[in-house]
Amino acid sequence: EAKLAGRVKSLTPSTTLAITAKAKELKAAGHDVIGLGAGEPDFNTPQHIIDAAVRSMNEGHTKYTPSAGLPALKAEIAKKFKSDQGIDYDVSEIMVATGAKHALYTLFQVLLDDGDEVIIPTPYWVSYPEQVKLAGGVPVYVEGYESNQFKITPEQLAAAITDKTKAVIINSPSNPTGMIYTKEELSALGELCLSKDVLIVSDEIYEKLIYDGNKHISIAQISPALKEQTIIINGVSKSHSMTGWRIGYAAGNKEIINAMTNLASHSTSNPTTTAQYGAIAAYSGPQDDVEMMRKAFEERLNTIYDQLVQIPGITCIKPQGAFYLFPNAQKAAELTGFNHVDEFSAALLEEAKVAVVPGSGFGAPENIRLSYATSLDLLEQAVSRIKEFVEKNS
Ligand code: PLP
Repeated sequence: EAKLAGRVKSLTPSTTLAITAKAKELKAAGHDVIGLGAGEPDFNTPQHIIDAAVRSMNEGHTKYTPSAGLPALKAEIAKKFKSDQGIDYDVSEIMVATGAKHALYTLFQVLLDDGDEVIIPTPYWVSYPEQVKLAGGVPVYVEGYESNQFKITPEQLAAAITDKTKAVIINSPSNPTGMIYTKEELSALGELCLSKDVLIVSDEIYEKLIYDGNKHISIAQISPALKEQTIIINGVSKSHSMTGWRIGYAAGNKEIINAMTNLASHSTSNPTTTAQYGAIAAYSGPQDDVEMMRKAFEERLNTIYDQLVQIPGITCIKPQGAFYLFPNAQKAAELTGFNHVDEFSAALLEEAKVAVVPGSGFGAPENIRLSYATSLDLLEQAVSRIKEFVEKNS
């Protein structure tokens, strides 16, 4: 047996990546599998961003950058916060990281001592609990009930806060539910965090993917006090279809940003230089592609949602953002002879040849996650396969 450290022995691999791998394996073996597991836009990165990155390399920008990122990129991020949210961040309050995921990882490493608690509303993005645990922290789950659009209330939050609570994570728009917290809801949660001195980690990576006239509000824009209490996490992966470039960032309290920068200087040194030049172009160039992709997602959502809810045993709250549907499939599982949605999902992959991610990995065992970051044609085929599977087996 390999001499592994205790901290990685309890680490669970990402369910999302596991499903994607399994679907690819079946595909490679010749099966006609439709994968709805993807957590990334299916568009290529806009051409002007690719061109800018190539140009930067040809101009010789192929060396280390400061650990917190290129000053020019931080300046673009600051500009974006000002124009989108009306928040003033100094460049010293911004740190660029190797994806939003690594920004979060670094944040928990600098925030948490052993035993510190982080409140994680369920359903949650799969990496939050693992990242908190890797930093010695303890995840404390608060259930976002489906009857409350999967959102937590101030009363629930208040009941979960102890003298060990360091932070709470807010992810709006949410992966996996697609729900958005309103300004009033954020204000109420924020007031409570201020009064109990609980930090707010606000993951806003799906900020640009919002539908049906809904609006993204950052909890940090509500008041100067809440800006001080919040670390915003964001990045270009989902907004500009740049998942492989690995550029994300954190913005907030200067001392926290400094500590994160110090840590990064000993782990990544800096996010990839070429990718940072691409991100500068993403924020300083035209935003038409961002809107084009958003519109495409919205059209898919509207088409596929109506078909999905016609499947016997499936109910679904209509998402307001991101690119996932998170239907409750417990009844559909039972109709087809399964006790657990996990088994139902496995059968969907094996028999209907549709890969969905079981909700258990997100702390919501009655649900499944379907990504609509794939063509409308494939989405319609996938939903009709699920429908046939349920009808045939019930
Ligand atoms: N936060 C959420 C909620 C996500 O869904 C993802 C990606 O799946 C990330 C953060 C990480 O994004 P990045 O590609 O910037 O690491």
